[in-house]
Amino acid sequence: MATTPTALITGASSGLGTEFARQLASRGAGLVLVARDTAALDRLAGALRVAHGVDAEVLSADLTDPAGLDAVASRVADAERPIEVLVNNAGFGLDLDFAANDIADEQRHLDLHVGATMRLSHAALGAMLARGHGRIINVASVAAFMPRGTYGAVKGWVVSFSRWANAVYGPRGVTVTAICPGFTHTNFHERLGLAPGEEGVPPFMWLDADQVVREGLRDAARGKAVSIPSLRYKVLIGAMRLLPAPLAARLAKTGR
Ligand code: NAP
Repeated sequence: MATTPTALITGASSGLGTEFARQLASRGAGLVLVARDTAALDRLAGALRVAHGVDAEVLSADLTDPAGLDAVASRVADAERPIEVLVNNAGFGLDLDFAANDIADEQRHLDLHVGATMRLSHAALGAMLARGHGRIINVASVAAFMPRGTYGAVKGWVVSFSRWANAVYGPRGVTVTAICPGFTHTNFHERLGLAPGEEGVPPFMWLDADQVVREGLRDAARGKAVSIPSLRYKVLIGAMRLLPAPLAARLAKTGR
């Protein structure tokens, strides 16, 4: 039995995942760091062991590969080494022009955002419900609340699933929270081939990973089903829900 709670974070090699690892380690949590870039995970694990004296395990896996996903699901379900917090964070974007995208890329996108989140949540729930406690955090996006190609669609699945699962499993000790960031400084947009500033998004719309993760962890600790970090995005999404659908669709074209 672990003496301190352990968090497993997918997509820990970069951006929000790295920030989840830092903030959870600073609170004393042991870590299992998952992504494909082993060297980046090793560097992060080493730095967090030194800075916070926590256990940090590296589990390299491609979550769109069935064998990689199996390995991570087994680690999540391992009753001998319990995972108290699962953070389903790994993700990437595609061009919003669905018809022009390679269908193999679209399939990987669906497999990662929906398939891996579903599989790892299922593995975690089995173990957490048996213990009577645990926390699942699913990183969605404000894109869940607007028409935005298959990216909005997969994030909509994450929010809908998290709302339902939190209502059903929260009373049994396992909370499920969808964190919905707006535009956040990470490597996400560069990986889409966009240089900083190429987004066409005004500077005030950008968030820092530190704020997104801090507010998201706070809302998860409160057992909220949905967390929208920052007042400006809470107001924006609230207002957007009141707009007629065609206007919302026009506004949702801003940025990438
Ligand atoms: P990021 O800096 O590009 O990090 C993405 C992470 O996902 C990396 O650690 C990457 O690791 C991992 N990943 C990608 N494909 C993977 C795969 N097949 N298997 C395992 N890991 C994989 O982007 P980020 O912004 O932090 O993204 C984190 C989450 O936030 C995503 O779900 C994204 O949709 C969401 N989000 C981002 C923003 C934003 O503006 N940045 C806004 C709303 C929501 P490897 O390459 O090492 O595998």
